[in-house]
Amino acid sequence: MNRISKKWHALGVQEKLHILIQGSLIVLFFLSMDWVIARFEDQIMTSAELRAEETADGLINGMNMLMLTGTISIPENRKLLLNKMQQSEGIKELRIIRGDSVVAQFGKGLPEEQALDEMDREVLKTGKVRFVRIDVPGGPPLLRVVVPFIAQENYRGTNCLSCHTAEAGSVNGAASVIIDLSKDEAMLQSVKNWLWAGHIAIQIFLSIIISWFVRVLIVRNIAEPVKKLQAAMAEIQRENDLSKRADVDENNPDIGEMARSFNTLVGNLELATDRLELFGKMFHGSGEAILIANANGDIVAVNPAFTEITGYPAMEVLGKNPRILSSGKQTPDFYQTMWASINEAGQWQGEIWNRRKSGEVYPEWLSIGVVKNQRGEVINYISLFADITERKAAEQKIEFLAHYDALTKLPNRALFADRLKLALISAGRNEKKVALLFLDLDKFKGINDTMGHLAGDILLQSVATRLKSCVRESDTICRQGGDEFMILLPDAESAADVENVAQKIIAAMTTPHQIEGKDLIVTFSVGIAIFPEDAGDSEGLVKCADDAMYRAKEKGRNNYQFY
Ligand code: GH3
Ligand code: MG
Repeated sequence: MNRISKKWHALGVQEKLHILIQGSLIVLFFLSMDWVIARFEDQIMTSAELRAEETADGLINGMNMLMLTGTISIPENRKLLLNKMQQSEGIKELRIIRGDSVVAQFGKGLPEEQALDEMDREVLKTGKVRFVRIDVPGGPPLLRVVVPFIAQENYRGTNCLSCHTAEAGSVNGAASVIIDLSKDEAMLQSVKNWLWAGHIAIQIFLSIIISWFVRVLIVRNIAEPVKKLQAAMAEIQRENDLSKRADVDENNPDIGEMARSFNTLVGNLELATDRLELFGKMFHGSGEAILIANANGDIVAVNPAFTEITGYPAMEVLGKNPRILSSGKQTPDFYQTMWASINEAGQWQGEIWNRRKSGEVYPEWLSIGVVKNQRGEVINYISLFADITERKAAEQKIEFLAHYDALTKLPNRALFADRLKLALISAGRNEKKVALLFLDLDKFKGINDTMGHLAGDILLQSVATRLKSCVRESDTICRQGGDEFMILLPDAESAADVENVAQKIIAAMTTPHQIEGKDLIVTFSVGIAIFPEDAGDSEGLVKCADDAMYRAKEKGRNNYQFY
């Protein structure tokens, strides 16, 4: 059954239609054949019955004539009747019933006297002819007919069968005749055979005509247009050219509609492909790294910028968790906040430190977005990130340049002013002293002039380093500009402490600086101002220290002076 169903499904529309039409024709053929044969059988039976009835009537008439002159019991009469019976074709038995008893019976192998049977009695009672078929197994087909004798006026008072004393029109007796139907049946069979042969011939002819007609219809209206459409589809597929379209057959609405639908589909595919190509270009050409993960967080796609930034080729990260990039610099709390934002707002962005394949840790600006399906389930996470190492370095540089001196790397005037202000506020609150030292190199111009500006720069750097060794971590040294420096001592206990620092600086400058292979000694003139004694604000304090420094210059340089 399964095999047949499989074979059926494998057939084309044409073959299926063909089989269906042939099948219906065959069923129609058998049904119509049955009907035709039934009609012929009826016809033949009716003619057999008529023949039987006529035979019976003829016999009765013959007997009537005989019995006008004598009775049936006279041997000559019986002989005559037997002869007549034998002349009639196919008569097997004749039985004469008079009143309610059998008066004569002719037939081979039959007993002389027979009792009346059901059929005889019914004919006697109703006066109507009756027929019945008798089928003896192995014997010929037989038909029995029982014909009533109706009393007739012209035979009244005679001895014949249709007379007697009965009233005219009443049933007087009956004749039961059995006829052999072999000849009729043989004729029926021959007619049947001819009918079958004729019918089959007609069926074959009809089948051929209908099949041919259906074939022409199918080929012209379905097969050929479908084939054409199929060829157009195959060509588009083979050449992978989505700009091509199949021809629309306007004369064939169904196939035309199919071609139109196909063209719409190809058009949509072309649009989608173009968009996909565009997105692909964006994905591959993006300067920002793109990482796409599935709902489980497994990486499903990365772009070349990802590889460039992280150092991982796509093949090494596909199927893995983005955790492989983790630098360990972020706390678990950081990730918790990040995921809370992704789950609630559908996105997160911020700065994060990750690790390259080389092990180098770098800062990136990361944006994570969630892609959901129509049921609201997460299907993808898309991460975009840019390496911000350079940007951060530039920012740091700007930040440094804003607050530090580029040459000596010491805090600049702006940062120093800030620190000084804070120190004064704090000292004012805690009733503490703050000391400010103003330093200017002695005769520095001469070094520039004799050794060059570059050597002067190197000397300034060397001086700055040496100054740092003279103060504590909590003290601030700044390069004010040119050859001027300032030192902030935020918790100067006493004048002696400050003096100690000034002496340390003077002493430190006695060691020569190695500049371009030469030993150079430079000295400082130092001015000192103390808060709150000398001034109550930073500007005033700087001015006092500056004044004191000028006094030191006047006093022959290489010394320190309190304001
Ligand atoms: P004085 O003892 O009176 O201070 O004499 P001086 O030669 O040091 O004169 P002054 O302090 O007025 O001049 C400072 C000089 O420092 C002027 C300039 O030539 C030099 N100078 C200023 N800024 C720089 C710098 O960034 N690099 C170098 N090499 N020299 C500088
Ligand atoms: Mg100077």
